[in-house]
Amino acid sequence: MKVAGYRIHEWGGPLRWESFDVAAPQPAEVLVRVEACGIGLTVLNCIRGDLANEAARLPRVPGHEIVGRVEAVGESVTAPAIGQRVMAYFYLVCGRCEACRSGGDSLCRNLAGWVGVHRDGGYAPVTVLPAANVVPLPDSIPAAQATAIPDAIATPLHVCRTRARVQPGDRVAVIGAGGGIGIHMVEMAALFGARVAGLEAGEGKLETIRRMGAVPILSRSFDEIDLSPAFDDERPTVVVDLVGSRASLAWALDALALGGRLVVLTTFRDVGLPVTPRDLVLREITLYGSRYASKAELRESAELVAAGRIHPVVSRVVPPTGIEQVHRALREGTLIGRGAVNWTL
Ligand SMILES: [Zn+2]
Repeated sequence: MKVAGYRIHEWGGPLRWESFDVAAPQPAEVLVRVEACGIGLTVLNCIRGDLANEAARLPRVPGHEIVGRVEAVGESVTAPAIGQRVMAYFYLVCGRCEACRSGGDSLCRNLAGWVGVHRDGGYAPVTVLPAANVVPLPDSIPAAQATAIPDAIATPLHVCRTRARVQPGDRVAVIGAGGGIGIHMVEMAALFGARVAGLEAGEGKLETIRRMGAVPILSRSFDEIDLSPAFDDERPTVVVDLVGSRASLAWALDALALGGRLVVLTTFRDVGLPVTPRDLVLREITLYGSRYASKAELRESAELVAAGRIHPVVSRVVPPTGIEQVHRALREGTLIGRGAVNWTL
């Protein structure tokens, strides 16, 4: 099948709009007609080659937050059925190992890479994925909104439920609260019963942070942050750091209450965590790394959205010609929440 879409021809280079062939699905694969695909910083990282940068993988269609409908299935595929609405699971997992079988999919022992890096993704109107990499999605959720579910909403659910175990009485500070993961982290922590402070350097994002359930805190410099509008004189019991700079991590460790939990989600190679064992012990601090989400958490995130308990914040929805504009807004730090390309526009 001939389609037109965006492909990477050089890691870190410009995307190229072009026509190319999409092969029929092989055994254990499905062909998905893409309705919409999320546009966020992770996609830019993938295009830059941060996750993998072998020339042999090119050309490659980027984009992993895919929402669409199964249009054809390969031999031996029993589920999903043709016509099923689905969203993509970002990690190319084996589905058979100990981690996959116990609901820890993102810790798969045989990880084969990522959608949009090791296989073609959703910056094209059609994509072929392993059948094990699509998760059912209710028909009721509009496509662009739904693109936030498989990463931007599922990741916060993993943080709040499986890692930090947020509960009523917690005071959660989210660093980078206006971005795609951050804005939904705010919503999720509030849904779990916490009081939430949303730290954000971009003034234009503060109103949305307030609307999503947090007290917004302008955080241009970590030397001058005052959390008292959110927590009075108390310290946060949980800090979720989505910025991951040396300054943000140092602030987070310093700010935590006794017995507090720090959750980190960034993977910059050259940033260390400025903490001593003495500090961890005397203040009984717990450090959590949090890696993506499970397929079950994707399904549950879709249920939360369908029930109106979590509202996706997808502030820019563009036709395929508008992708570069959204990339620019991401680089400039002005995009509120997520963006999405809608292939039906
Ligand atoms: Zn596995």
